[in-house]
Amino acid sequence: ARAVQPDWAARAPRDRAAVLLRLHDLVLSRQEEGLDLLQLEAGKSRGHAFEELAAVAIPARWYARRGPALLADTHHAGLIPLLSQVREVHHPHGVVGVIAPWNYPLMLSIGDALPALLAGNAVVIKPDEKTTLCTLWAVSLLAEAGLPEGVLQVVAGDGAVVGSAVVDAVDYVCFTGSSATGRIVARHAADRLISCSLELGGKNSLYVAADADLDRAAEGAVRDCFGNLGQLCVSTERLLLHADIAEAFLDRFLDRVRRLRLGAELDFSTDLGCLISPEHLGRVQAHVEDALAHGARLLVGGRARPDLGPTFYEPTVLDGLPAHAESAAEETFGPVVAVYRVTSDAEAVSMANDTEYGLNASIWTRDLHRGAVLARQIRTGTVAVNEAYHATSGSIAAPMGGHKASGIGRRYGGAGLLRFTESQTVLVQRLVGLGPLYAQGPERTVRSLTLALRAARTLRLPWP
Ligand code: NAD
Repeated sequence: ARAVQPDWAARAPRDRAAVLLRLHDLVLSRQEEGLDLLQLEAGKSRGHAFEELAAVAIPARWYARRGPALLADTHHAGLIPLLSQVREVHHPHGVVGVIAPWNYPLMLSIGDALPALLAGNAVVIKPDEKTTLCTLWAVSLLAEAGLPEGVLQVVAGDGAVVGSAVVDAVDYVCFTGSSATGRIVARHAADRLISCSLELGGKNSLYVAADADLDRAAEGAVRDCFGNLGQLCVSTERLLLHADIAEAFLDRFLDRVRRLRLGAELDFSTDLGCLISPEHLGRVQAHVEDALAHGARLLVGGRARPDLGPTFYEPTVLDGLPAHAESAAEETFGPVVAVYRVTSDAEAVSMANDTEYGLNASIWTRDLHRGAVLARQIRTGTVAVNEAYHATSGSIAAPMGGHKASGIGRRYGGAGLLRFTESQTVLVQRLVGLGPLYAQGPERTVRSLTLALRAARTLRLPWP
């Protein structure tokens, strides 16, 4: 990767962008292959698998269209008006390491590699050991799209061994995974004094206010809670319901949850697939059993479905989950959601914020202004009003990432591209420099500068 990176970086950004556009077309034209693989390796339903293909195609096109302009030099006013010309130049870091989890094995590996490649970096991806084939499929599409050999490498294997070797070898790390591993990666990057972005866990809330359109809210909540069977950093695990509408909302919500179809068919006949592994099934089951042992009540689900396949688990809704149950604060990362009743918007905001995480939230209300005001009070990287996570994570012109223990840095938008660059300020001085000013001697220099700074403030000049 290091050997071929300079040639790749020397290409015009538009040439690099053309590769991304061709990838966009290939992902759509070869989707049947990608959908089968995502279903077989990651256990997704076909609809959820398509969401993932879209989450590669959409940023590929957005970065290809907008990236070259974002990477262009920026001109700034310099210290001496007109005579100091300052340019901000965006250099690639060199080799970027992308360490990805299993839940969105394309979006979080190739999807994050795309802006890094566009910025002129070579990339080494460490996929999760459970979903390496999905990543390799996308890498083969990128080769077909014209990416030069060697610019994108995949190293497969155990996280603690191979992941940490990647952090040792690269110039920037883009990590997505649990907050626990994120802390290890951050410490390791700190030792090497390299930058990193960390996209970590969540314990997200969805609030249904007293004035919400309950049918829309129930339909959106089902998508929000059970997308990818809840194995999704931005999905909802806490449903905050205003007491005035809680029962009416639950009638609608539970009815929809009961009608969700689980299955392993390689077609669109099912809504939900299965969990990633027997270990993960064990964790989800343990969270539900612990919740019930602590007095929570099961409203629906709560059962594994070995009749459908070894890791199927029903979408599950719990009521009355006490604060000391494991899943009250910890991320389950499965199809399990707990219902809470609140008596005011302020209580909902306070509960949404009462977690170490700060990734995503959703608010449902007919009063759009109120929704937007409440959204600003919730400490998460993204908040959707009257929609589920699809709308926020699909609005890729804007950044996405976590507050608090949910991460550092952002994917998407300009920030999601420029994180893969190192800025350099280049000043070119024309005609006269600072010599004449300093030639006055230190005392007069200080007086002249003080006068000039005061004048700039009084006259509101855009200087320096
Ligand atoms: P994980 O942290 O166990 O693993 C993530 C990746 O890190 C894997 O490739 C793993 O092999 C590797 N890894 C493990 N130990 C490592 C080490 N010491 N050094 C370097 N790499 C190492 O996470 P997971 O269980 O696979 O994924 C689920 C978690 O990811 C959840 O907490 C979820 O919320 C989070 N997630 C966050 C986002 C986001 O954008 N914020 C997106 C998806 C998933």
